Amino acid sequence: MSAKIHCLITGALESSYRTSVYGAPERHPAATKEELVPYGYKERVYHEDGSVSPGLMVPVPVWLIEGEGKTILIDTGLGDCDEIMALQNNYGIDYIATKNKDEEIVTALGKKGLGPDDIDIVVLTHLHFDHIGNNELFSKARFVVQRDEIQFLVSPPPFATFYYREWQHKLTSVSDRLHIMEGDYRLSKDVELIKVGGHAAGQMVVMVNTTLGKVCIASDFYYNYTNINRAWPMGPLWNVQQWIDNDRRLKGHSDLILPNHDYALLEKYPSRIIGE
Ligand SMILES: [Zn+2]
Repeated sequence: MSAKIHCLITGALESSYRTSVYGAPERHPAATKEELVPYGYKERVYHEDGSVSPGLMVPVPVWLIEGEGKTILIDTGLGDCDEIMALQNNYGIDYIATKNKDEEIVTALGKKGLGPDDIDIVVLTHLHFDHIGNNELFSKARFVVQRDEIQFLVSPPPFATFYYREWQHKLTSVSDRLHIMEGDYRLSKDVELIKVGGHAAGQMVVMVNTTLGKVCIASDFYYNYTNINRAWPMGPLWNVQQWIDNDRRLKGHSDLILPNHDYALLEKYPSRIIGE
């Protein structure tokens, strides 16, 4: 028996070229902008308020792992969009967050015949806002997170992006079921958590044995296929050397890698099921 991975989309977030691909690649001597451009990028994006800017929308997935009797959810995705946009506005970020009815996490799980109470384990790959948005819905699940992430949500340094102390309640509301870890951890026979850092101090990826071999649910260690195929990190980075080292390590140990914020993934896997 091996496990099956379902990709459920919980909404979309606006992003920029520099957030998707590290540095200022349009001026980089090693590659042209066209070579590095992330899927879906447009020079002119028209906003509701009439403004126009370059950028792209990226999906915000969660990953459901089926098999071995336990139901495991990787991250809880995008929460309330109005709340998120107001929260980010406090920090000078005016990115758009959207979701349609089918992208409500309860609806998306319902289509798989599951309710929030059916989830046994939630893995929080890191504590950026788009990975913890629906924590409070999973009232029966055990939550797993790396110790290194806690301090960033509780008391983020001013330069740490995407951690919001106003959202501490996303963690305290599940603190009676919180399993705080340090390092790698085997969750079950077919599911292993690997601490990789890079994007965030306590960033984890999830290695899953499937019929396609060992699949790496990369979370935000890779945002998109440019990050994977060019070994070129995304913009928000906590530790560049960790990213370089673990990029090699993950590629050496995975048969397939799933980036987190790239609509191209949905074109490759139209059923949104990996390891059927
Ligand atoms: Zn993310």
